[in-house]
Amino acid sequence: RAKALGRSRYEIFDLTMHQNALSVLQLETELRRAVENQEFEIYYQPIVSLSTHQIAGFEALLRWHHPSRGLVYPGEFIPMAEETGLIIPMGWWMLRQACRQLELWHDTVQESELNQELAHQLTIYVNLSSKQFLQPELLEHLDKILHETHLHPSHLKLEITESCLLADPEIAEERLKELRDRQIGLCIDDFGTGYSSLSYLHRFPIDTIKIDQSLISNISIDVQGHCEAGMINRTKGLPLQIVRTIIMLADSLGMKVIAEGVETKEQLTQLRLLDCDYAQGYLFQAPLDALTAGKLRVEPQ
Ligand code: C2E
Ligand code: MG
Ligand code: MG
Ligand code: MG
Repeated sequence: RAKALGRSRYEIFDLTMHQNALSVLQLETELRRAVENQEFEIYYQPIVSLSTHQIAGFEALLRWHHPSRGLVYPGEFIPMAEETGLIIPMGWWMLRQACRQLELWHDTVQESELNQELAHQLTIYVNLSSKQFLQPELLEHLDKILHETHLHPSHLKLEITESCLLADPEIAEERLKELRDRQIGLCIDDFGTGYSSLSYLHRFPIDTIKIDQSLISNISIDVQGHCEAGMINRTKGLPLQIVRTIIMLADSLGMKVIAEGVETKEQLTQLRLLDCDYAQGYLFQAPLDALTAGKLRVEPQ
């Protein structure tokens, strides 16, 4: 009987594995079709200057209009896209579209609600997967896209993660220097989650650091927590200490800081006290489609 039970368990397990394999295969097939049929759309989330209270730029974020599942978020398909290499054509499409959109905003400011002077200074932030970053054709592609869209390279910022830089620091350093020589902006994304090594920062020609949401969500410790002594409160205040250190270090290296995932006024107040340069998050605005983003006006918080 035990044997029979064991066997049926095994079969159930096998079936689940089979179903997983099927859904993986299905996702891959659907992704390929999505690339061909252009089922993707870019959403734009404003990045707000904490000194001027104005929109300084937008981060371009990928969305998938799945024919039956509706709007699908990148968390559900980027890993698969990276695994299959589909991220490469998707990434180039993304970059070209985002640059084109920014250039359109630069050109049509009169019609938009965006302040004219500021609109010309808008920067577009585009996420680059490690596969794309390491692709030998990277610079060739970028040159072509910038040429086609007439976008000045200083209005483009590429977001790269720490792990992408640290996988092969020598190559990364080389790559970043080539990008910097073209005046393309370089930003470390999700800073504080991976290796969190501050020591390598000076080595790379990075101009902006994006502090990860997981740190930002824990920086507003209450006054009571401040006054009490002991281990618990020291742990409680740790994200704040880390963020403070990152901002100070960035400043001393001449880098700008963006706080990611700002959701509350308390977090914003804390970031202002710390002299953070920019913030991005639901407190200001969730990512929007291009049309709505172009009409956006962020109210001072
Ligand atoms: P990310 O680059 O760190 O982007 C920030 C994510 O945080 C976005 O999620 C954004 O919608 C979300 N977010 C913004 N403000 C808030 C907030 O206040 N609270 C919370 N809880 N979340 C907030 P999204 O759009 O789902 O993208 C997830 C990740 O997918 C991105 O993280 C990025 O790593 C990746 N991704 C998105 N588009 C692309 C792309 O075109 N290429 C590549 N390689 N990766 C992309
Ligand atoms: Mg990003
Ligand atoms: Mg991030
Ligand atoms: Mg500063």
